[in-house]
Amino acid sequence: MLIDTHAHLDEQAFDPDRAETVQRAADAGVESILTIGITLRTSQAAVALANEYPSVFAVVGIQPNYAAEASPMDWAEIETLARQPKVVAIGETGLDRYWDFAPLDIQADFFTRHVQLAQELELPFVVHCRDAEADVVSQLRTLGGPFRGVMHSFCGSTQTARECLDLGLHISFSGMLTYRKNQELRETAALIPRDRLLVETDAPYLVPHKQRKAKVKRNEPSFVVETGACLAEAQGLSFEEMATICTANAKRLFGLD
Ligand SMILES: [Zn+2]
Repeated sequence: MLIDTHAHLDEQAFDPDRAETVQRAADAGVESILTIGITLRTSQAAVALANEYPSVFAVVGIQPNYAAEASPMDWAEIETLARQPKVVAIGETGLDRYWDFAPLDIQADFFTRHVQLAQELELPFVVHCRDAEADVVSQLRTLGGPFRGVMHSFCGSTQTARECLDLGLHISFSGMLTYRKNQELRETAALIPRDRLLVETDAPYLVPHKQRKAKVKRNEPSFVVETGACLAEAQGLSFEEMATICTANAKRLFGLD
């Protein structure tokens, strides 16, 4: 069994067959799915999906690229939503220098708020980091730590991974781990302590290698199995061993069951 620790099940891409997608994940051995918000509206949708499907849990927050357009009311609503019983983490939050949708100081302000809300509610937080590894590490260092959280869809260097591990964070790998060109990422994955490993899809984005080759355009939680197999190979473990480890880690970090 595996847990997909990061998916966007609310996205339009799943409108035609959301229930079937959740069922296919179960059939593939994916026992739980964490669906995550990027705005107030999508965070509300995440909670609604978690309430609809027993195997789905919600993560609520305002993703850095949407921080500038979020109103004070939006943030207040996130604080309320975060107290819902099926909300297991806060996010996605973090910093993004790749897109230019929100000034970095606004992103940083929201990042701090998410971390503090997570700490207040004794929940982990989920970090989105794009072209901003050094900024994320330095901001977290100023906030203290060690933290209960995860670097989602990790694609940084071994050095960044070490700094994040020192901050107490887990490292989650997505379909990017399976891409041919990402040999360096697999070498980094091989070095992560086993009790800090997680897997995710980031569905409907980041279709893993095999499905991409088969011309599948939309990622979905059942495909997390391919990333789990790739991670097992990188770590020199059997798929079953890796699945057991990642699932135990996800349950511990997110307080599932
Ligand atoms: Zn995401």
